Amino acid sequence: MPPVGATVTDPLVGRLVDGRYEVVQRIARGGMATVYLAVDRRLDRDVALKVMHPHLAEGRAGADFVARFRREARAAARLTHPGLVGVYDQGLDGDTSYLTMEYVDGVNLRRHLSERGSLSVGEALGVAEQVLDALGAAHRAGLVHRDVKPENVLMATDGRIKVADFGLARAVTEVTSTTTGTVFGTVAYLSPELVVRGESDARTDVYATGVLLYEMLTGAQPFTGETPIQIAFQHVNNDVPAPSDADGASWLPVEVDELVGALAAREPEDRPADAGAALALLRRTRTALDPATLARRVDRDPVVSLPQATDPEQDTGSSAVGARAAGDPADEPAEPGDATTRLETPGRTVALPIGAVTVSGSPAAATARRRRPWRWVVAAVLLLAAIGGGTWWYLAVGPGAYTTVPAVSGLAEDDALGALDAAELASDVVRAFDDTVPSGDVVSADPGDGERVRKDGTVTLTVSKGVDLVAMPAETLVGKLQADAEALLTAAGLDADYVEGDHWDDAAAVGAVLAVTDADGTPVEPGQALRRGSTVLLTLSDGPEPVRIVSVVGATLDEATAQLRGLGLVVAPEEAFSDTVEAGRVISQTPEGGAQGKRTDTVTLQVSKGPETVAMPNLTGKQYNEAAAALEALGLKAERRNVLGGLFGTVRDQSVPAEQQVAKGTTITLTVV
Ligand code: ADP
Ligand code: MG
Repeated sequence: MPPVGATVTDPLVGRLVDGRYEVVQRIARGGMATVYLAVDRRLDRDVALKVMHPHLAEGRAGADFVARFRREARAAARLTHPGLVGVYDQGLDGDTSYLTMEYVDGVNLRRHLSERGSLSVGEALGVAEQVLDALGAAHRAGLVHRDVKPENVLMATDGRIKVADFGLARAVTEVTSTTTGTVFGTVAYLSPELVVRGESDARTDVYATGVLLYEMLTGAQPFTGETPIQIAFQHVNNDVPAPSDADGASWLPVEVDELVGALAAREPEDRPADAGAALALLRRTRTALDPATLARRVDRDPVVSLPQATDPEQDTGSSAVGARAAGDPADEPAEPGDATTRLETPGRTVALPIGAVTVSGSPAAATARRRRPWRWVVAAVLLLAAIGGGTWWYLAVGPGAYTTVPAVSGLAEDDALGALDAAELASDVVRAFDDTVPSGDVVSADPGDGERVRKDGTVTLTVSKGVDLVAMPAETLVGKLQADAEALLTAAGLDADYVEGDHWDDAAAVGAVLAVTDADGTPVEPGQALRRGSTVLLTLSDGPEPVRIVSVVGATLDEATAQLRGLGLVVAPEEAFSDTVEAGRVISQTPEGGAQGKRTDTVTLQVSKGPETVAMPNLTGKQYNEAAAALEALGLKAERRNVLGGLFGTVRDQSVPAEQQVAKGTTITLTVV
């Protein structure tokens, strides 16, 4: 149910996001996103809708942010554990990245803690136990939360604890540590290794849980200071104090001190290896405690209760440590007014340049725990000396002698130069083509956005000349042979690649270009402008497709022609006499049936015109012997029939009249007188 008293008006409230999520109520505003209660219209259930702050998606780091927001959302969605807020879905509405997750009806631990002042030992251990149990599942899946703090621990009304904001902190850290040399986090819970080296692993979460446990037990954070850098300095150079050293907490048993000391050990090697190991340690600790101790709590007054819409995360924005860090959420102006006197807001996300704080001061400042009061005084003096010495060091030779490069990437050249000028930095400009940054805008800075630079240093800006375009050759590549086409593309500053597979073509020679496209298959025209170095895909001909030639022997010429043409073959008929094959039918073919050929091959057919004939000569009046020889010469046979004894030997008559066509081999009867 929407919390009462939440009257903040927000443009998203009442809207339908991505046609599916009806925004009911703003719950909180964190460093990276605003969280709403929404109703999933499709599944008819309450969800928490987390909408990334639009300004984070801007600029060059923005694309990275959005990509990692999504990737990490997917990673978190793979994790299913009752102690981890389940991620349902992530998407994009317009250019707003959002994700939806299980709605936890309740409050976050920050609020619970401010309402109570402090928690009993039993409750504090119970919360830490559930947090470690949940983190253990994540660690086993290879994910480090990196932003464990009370704002990210949700307490359902039924008492269950759920860790939220999973993986987003990792996304932030990755982007920032790689592109701007900045680590994000909440300074009260930042482990020394994150501050100094920007490194983190499962033990980083263990450290933060140790701090969280300290805070639940004592109602205060172990380190406080006026600026984030002072707090970070203490994390790096001091051990987290024993909770029993806090006011009114001297009754806390040594086992509890030892547990906090182990979880929040300064050196990662001194901590339990991951949340699973920490959980085992915590459970062992609790078995050593008696019920009366577990039920007791350090006496602390509640902080004035705030309406939920003003939850600490809601309006904090974020602030950069030291000089303005760039290209990150710290772009939001810090709150005006009492910035120098105000104690650091709990839960505030900061951007801390890696290495802004280093290990310094004498190790003696890091004193043994459970010290006697006089030792505490000595320790406090040493501590102040370390802070003082550190501050001197910081300003004289350390990072304080440096300033931070303002966020100039993505700005117009003039604006960027103005920003550098305002930061009293000299500038140099080099120009380069860039595929994504519009012409005239800054591609990058060296040193980069948010990086340290000596106060009298020079920043080199790379200003975009826009996309480097080249033209396709003016003459079409279609029909050209591979080598020629490729040479033309290379000369034009383009790369050639070839479409896989068979590309049969009856007309184009093997190796001739059939089609020219871009990587998406869209045709590329002669003269078209393309990015230099982009790949042009050529489809090359493999020539005519192979076919198996069928036998058409015995078929009529028409049938044979239709069948062979159907296979893409060319038919060449030749006529021939045949005594055996009916006229008009195929006697034989070359190549023969069954042979392997290819389309457009010619098949020669011998087509019968029936048996061969000769014209019958006129033999009447000829002597029989002469006539018989003439018939034989024509391939005919003679048969003699004598009349009146045939004494004269003269042919009087012939069985086939002169001029008539007669098949060769026919026997002609000659009547002889
Ligand atoms: P950010 O990354 O901006 O810190 P969080 O995910 O931590 O965002 O959410 C900010 C606040 O929103 C939390 O402290 C909590 O009060 C509230 N919140 C976050 N997720 C949920 C949820 N699933 N159900 C209910 N409230 C939530
Ligand atoms: Mg958060």
